[in-house]
Amino acid sequence: DRTQAAKAGIQIQRHGSCIDHDPCAVPFDSGQTGLGKSTMVNTLFASHLVDSRGRLDVDDPIPQTTAIEETQHSIVENGVRLKLNIIDTPGYGDQINNDGYQYADYSIHADLQIKDQYSGYLRKELTAQRDRHIADTRVHCCLFFINPTGHGLKPLDITVLRKLSEVVNVVPVIAKADSLTLEERELFKERIRAELQQHAIKLFPFDTEELDAEEIQLNERIRTMIPFAVIGSEKTVVIDGKPVRGRKTRWATINVEDERHCEFVYLRNFLTRTHLQDLIETTSLMHYEAFRAKQLTALKE
Ligand code: GDP
Ligand code: MG
Repeated sequence: DRTQAAKAGIQIQRHGSCIDHDPCAVPFDSGQTGLGKSTMVNTLFASHLVDSRGRLDVDDPIPQTTAIEETQHSIVENGVRLKLNIIDTPGYGDQINNDGYQYADYSIHADLQIKDQYSGYLRKELTAQRDRHIADTRVHCCLFFINPTGHGLKPLDITVLRKLSEVVNVVPVIAKADSLTLEERELFKERIRAELQQHAIKLFPFDTEELDAEEIQLNERIRTMIPFAVIGSEKTVVIDGKPVRGRKTRWATINVEDERHCEFVYLRNFLTRTHLQDLIETTSLMHYEAFRAKQLTALKE
């Protein structure tokens, strides 16, 4: 029985030294094949792309993701150049690959991959000299792709969401939102928020004492919007004579950047503008710190 939902992620991180103003974003993306994860990550960052190693090219066909694929890019946002690593992984409920590696098992333990990355960083921290620059390989954000069934989350989603949210900033999105009407989307979003609350799953953004009233209000607005209902596209369509990222459906032409069509723009602003710094800091100060404390305590015992 295949799970109906999937997860994916985006992480954002900064290079080791605190005088470095060049944050590095590392999206982590995984979920059931065909949910539009690769397309979404491509759509999110393509318009701001200035340099790429690996595939994030508008014209390249997207191969079905059968192995973990890591690519490096540079984007410019607000005049700031960001390094962006994207980790695109196959989802749970997927097939076995050539090596007989079970993605289903792998993805249920997706939190282990994040912990692996923390381990590597911790090792470097413990051995590196103080002034040595440590490349920040930690995952700053994990996008979790929910299948647009309109019904709700699967028990497996709850399990994976719980595990992931304990180790990384998780941002849930409803994939392929064009398959739901606006009313269905709103109902689905409400249902998912109720389920998250019922299962006591606490997601990013978190309010801290350092936040001012405006930031707390902004976080509250984000919480009423999560999960973002998004539509992705690797194609350009022409609307009112202008080329835009979009999709042609039986009823209409969708502009993914039109706020009346989906919440793509809100997600992008959230990830690359309003909460970029918070994603980086929360990873370091909350998730990684908790991991580090546990590891170091275990070492002493
Ligand atoms: P992945 O396996 O989750 O990485 O999915 P892909 O990004 O490879 O997309 C799978 C298929 O879904 C492709 O044919 C995409 O063109 C299509 N697709 C991606 N995003 C959307 C979307 O928002 N709406 C619709 N209707 N189709 C989409
Ligand atoms: Mg893919």
